[in-house]
Amino acid sequence: MLSERFKKLTSTLRFRLMGWMIVVVFGLVVVAMLGVRQIYRTRLLTEFDQGLLSDVKVLAQEIRQTYPDRERLHQKLDDIAFTHPLQAWFAEVYDDSGNKVVAGGYHPNLPPFSRDESTLPHDVLPYRLLAARLEEPGMPPMYVRVGGDRQSLEDDLRLLDQTMIVRGLAILLLAPLGGYILALRATRPIAWIIATAARLQPSRLDERLPIRGTGDELDQLSQTINGLLDRIADYIDRNREFVANAAHELRSPLAAIRSSVEVALNRQRSPEEYATLLGEVMEECQYLSNLVNRLLILAEGDAGRLGARNQTARLDKIVRESLDMFEAVAEAHEVPLQASPLPPALVPGDEFHLRQVVRNLLDNAIKFSLPGKRIRVALHVEAPARRAVLTVEDEGIGISAQDLPHIFERFYRGDKARQRLPGRASSGLGLSICQTIVQALEGSIEVASVAGQGSLFKVTLPLADNLSVSPSPPEHVESPAA
Ligand code: ADP
Repeated sequence: MLSERFKKLTSTLRFRLMGWMIVVVFGLVVVAMLGVRQIYRTRLLTEFDQGLLSDVKVLAQEIRQTYPDRERLHQKLDDIAFTHPLQAWFAEVYDDSGNKVVAGGYHPNLPPFSRDESTLPHDVLPYRLLAARLEEPGMPPMYVRVGGDRQSLEDDLRLLDQTMIVRGLAILLLAPLGGYILALRATRPIAWIIATAARLQPSRLDERLPIRGTGDELDQLSQTINGLLDRIADYIDRNREFVANAAHELRSPLAAIRSSVEVALNRQRSPEEYATLLGEVMEECQYLSNLVNRLLILAEGDAGRLGARNQTARLDKIVRESLDMFEAVAEAHEVPLQASPLPPALVPGDEFHLRQVVRNLLDNAIKFSLPGKRIRVALHVEAPARRAVLTVEDEGIGISAQDLPHIFERFYRGDKARQRLPGRASSGLGLSICQTIVQALEGSIEVASVAGQGSLFKVTLPLADNLSVSPSPPEHVESPAA
């Protein structure tokens, strides 16, 4: 239990931040202290050596003044040793053959002097000493050797070490506290984010993460999550609206079926009456089935399952078939249906969905055209751009500027459409289905329309890779209504 808690604690970002901070702070402190120690040691040594150098100069002067009186020189050296700041200071004078002439001050236990001894300051522990050759006019060449116990130097360094260790330990003790406070400050906004995110529910998506206004990464994270929440909320809203609209659309035909069945059941009827009622039921069932199919296409599109999946279809053939199919309806509406030559166009996608696109466009064009006006259908293959372009142009009622931005929305019906086509003749799903299918096939659908003058729908689809633009004779058909 306790170990689990500890494991949980150590896995937190706060704990890790704290740990990193301690390691970094302590590492930096150790490096800084070692640097300071090194500088301080070098300075102490330099001062020590400069002292020895000036001692050599003083000795040279004393030798000059006392030569050849060794006793006086000895006395002088003892006097200097007495007041010298170095502990165990000593001075030795040797003749040119390396024999000791006189020694003063402390008597260290040193190896015998040799003329080859280094003239640089050096250590013969526990002493530090300096040797020099003196050549004074009127005197034979001599050697001097001065030095002292380097204990004072070591003492100073030890004091520094002790001070640094105490400070280092204080820092080591304070670093976790500082690290904890910093980690707490740094991770508090994350705790807010977690707490707020935990409160979010699909039914309560109005809450947003707080933006502190610092512009830092956490603010950016909150903004990104808020943006995502906006999109999710929007998606859920649209889905709710879609379900409500779909239910609404399904309700009317179901009510009609129910009422026909009720009428059929409430008393005995003649076979003709039953036939009429069943005909009505059949019609409503047909409408329901169409509606459900359309809803399924949209649901498949939303689930990303409408892609081409390696299927290809001849768009020209589909357009041809659809034109043939609508010929009679167009004729009945007295709307001439004209098609320019249809070149072979192999596009990705399955025939069923592509047929839906073409039929919806033709259906709308006929639906929203007035008798005597023309509908023109054209298909172009733009081989260099590797795309096929289908246009359906009518001279119908057109789309108002207010409706135009919304016509691809699900269940959207323009004002005029509602007036013109009351009831369920139009569900407002046709264009959204077209758009869903075309976009799933990586194509696009555009519209240009002027109210009262007509509309032009343009569908662009990529060509399938193995397209062959055959030189087959172009087809040109006019419906009998033309
Ligand atoms: P429906 O399935 O009801 O026809 P659509 O999604 O196909 O719905 O069309 C949505 C709306 O776009 C229609 O209600 C109508 O206002 C407008 N619209 C579509 N095509 C045309 C057109 N060819 N001419 C004028 N208005 C059109």
